[in-house]
Amino acid sequence: MFRTLQNPGTFFPDSFQRIENDNIMNVPFDAATTEIFDQLFALYGTITPSGKVLDLAGRIFEKTRLDPRLLIGQQLTETVFWQSSEQSYRMIADAVEAAGKGIRSNTVLEFRVDKTEKIFLELDLCPVYRPENDERRLTHIFLCGRDVTAREKEIEFYKRRSEQLLYAAESADVGLWFWDLNEGKIFSTPKCNAFFDLSKYDTIRYPDFLETVFPDDRRQLIDVFLESQKNGTEYDVEYRVIHSDGGVEWLSTKGKTYLDADGSPVSMMGIVRRITDRKNADREISRVYELERKARDEAEEANRAKDYFLAFVSHELRSPLNAVLGWTKILLTKQVDEATRRNALETIERSATAQAKLISDLVDSSRIASGKLRLELRPMNLFDALNTVINSQKPLADSRKISLDFDNDSKNIVIFGDLIRIQQVFTNLLTNALKFTPDGGHIRIAMKTGGNEVAVSLRDDGQGISPEALPKIFRQFAQGDQNISRDQNGLGLGLSIVKTLVEKHEGRVTAESDGIGCGACFTVVLPLFKQAPAVSALTEKIAVGKETPLAGLRILLIEDDHDSREVLQLFLEQNGAQVESAESAAGAFAVLENGAGVFDVIVSDLAMPNEDGYSLISRIRSFPTEKGGRIPALALSAFAAKDCRERAFSAGFQKYHTKPFDPDQLIRDILGLIGKQSEV
Ligand code: ADP
Repeated sequence: MFRTLQNPGTFFPDSFQRIENDNIMNVPFDAATTEIFDQLFALYGTITPSGKVLDLAGRIFEKTRLDPRLLIGQQLTETVFWQSSEQSYRMIADAVEAAGKGIRSNTVLEFRVDKTEKIFLELDLCPVYRPENDERRLTHIFLCGRDVTAREKEIEFYKRRSEQLLYAAESADVGLWFWDLNEGKIFSTPKCNAFFDLSKYDTIRYPDFLETVFPDDRRQLIDVFLESQKNGTEYDVEYRVIHSDGGVEWLSTKGKTYLDADGSPVSMMGIVRRITDRKNADREISRVYELERKARDEAEEANRAKDYFLAFVSHELRSPLNAVLGWTKILLTKQVDEATRRNALETIERSATAQAKLISDLVDSSRIASGKLRLELRPMNLFDALNTVINSQKPLADSRKISLDFDNDSKNIVIFGDLIRIQQVFTNLLTNALKFTPDGGHIRIAMKTGGNEVAVSLRDDGQGISPEALPKIFRQFAQGDQNISRDQNGLGLGLSIVKTLVEKHEGRVTAESDGIGCGACFTVVLPLFKQAPAVSALTEKIAVGKETPLAGLRILLIEDDHDSREVLQLFLEQNGAQVESAESAAGAFAVLENGAGVFDVIVSDLAMPNEDGYSLISRIRSFPTEKGGRIPALALSAFAAKDCRERAFSAGFQKYHTKPFDPDQLIRDILGLIGKQSEV
């Protein structure tokens, strides 16, 4: 039951009655004081300096159902209220002991209401003094307690909640820090410390923290923090930190600054997460994206190049055809004088040759691109090869009054090469020089050996190459200076083929020019062959010699295309052969039926209607010798592919010659068929 103090009016020292020898005397409180105290405190009263209860009162005793008067004279610490825990007992005992020594205390401790209930009491113990002979004497201790259960429970609640939050943050791999800007202290979670490479419970200092930040990212981070502190705004920043082992981690920190009423920053907080994996993934994604973009660009570029190439090739292939068709039409329909006829035929021949060159450049380029270009390497004399090339171009140079000089320091220069391809290299370079040198110009070819190499340079005083075009001159489809070069036909493949062929011989080729109008110089450097054998025997003979190399040979020619058959027959006959021709396989069998024994060689096209050349030759091979079963045969085909060649050989041909036919080579091939050494 609630009870007011026994003797109101005596609490304050003035009205305090002396306590002699620790004898308990009623401490009077006046009624007004009691009323105020009842409202202010759940418990109040006085104890002696040694801790004995003088008086106790307060609302709290309504709950305990205990008359506090019964406690008077008891040691306060020994009363039942502090026995809910060892800790409470210790706290009250310490507080009473301190107060007895004149030390005021404020303690929150558990007050046991009954078996099941306890409340939190914030207990003040105030030593009270009384003047005595110019001194102050501690006469008793005033105590008052407020029920702070609600507050404590709230604190407890928040404590638990923040513990849970901290636990959640740690488990979620999130670091937290709180920066008291007034105190300059930073509180941080263990995870946060780990992110900054500090030990778990180190206190973070701002300068130390900045020290761990990657130097390039420091400025940005400081600016973000300053901005947030200035305006009390949220911030979100990503930066790198360097760990002591040299590892670099990406972190993201999101947070806010809190301002006081004056707008000054008082605290700041941050939520830190490690984002290295995400950053790496981002980088990987952008790398993949970049690769993909490049691949797309390249594919588009390749597509454009292909379209351009097709348009360009078809144009280049058609151009010579115009001349051929135009002139043949004129020759077939009009009477022309001898000079015009000759001019027409020369133009036709030139155009056909140009077209054959375009086609073989294309074929070579495609072989290079597909890695199918094979070289037949053997020791060969480079001097002989160059001489042949120069001689073959001499008539053209002479006709244009271009001087062709050949300087060399030896005629016995042996390299390990493919004769045909080496001649192709120098033919390309020389025809280019002739193409881009005006009438009356000069071309100088110089061959010099030095060390283990031989260098051949072709210098002309023609059109020259601009500095912009020069570095790209060996690329496919490089056309040099478009305006100047376009009237010269060519696919821009020649030099790229030259480069590939030279490199396949382990050599190198370079181009020099002082610019437009200053001429050009191409230099090919090739390794010399070490053990030079007798040289002249190694070099094939190319120049046309005998007038009628096929004299006495009887040839059966099978070709379904009328014009081709006619021109071939004429060509073979002009070279001394006796030719019988057939336009189909059936025709050929009929001829053989009438006299197979008379033929030395069969020359047959492959692609023919009804029965093709493969079938023709395999049937012939099934005949007995006297019926022509063993006549050597040469296949003529427009297809250069290796499998066509192999198929022809397995069907029964011994030689394979691609169209358009190369006159010298055809004669060599035919002679080769009958085992005769070519003199051509
Ligand atoms: P094309 O078969 O079209 O002639 P090339 O690859 O042989 O192609 O040559 C490419 C380009 O290099 C030519 O179009 C020309 O512009 C330039 N070029 C080659 N040789 C010479 C040279 N001797 N003088 C000037 N320009 C040259």
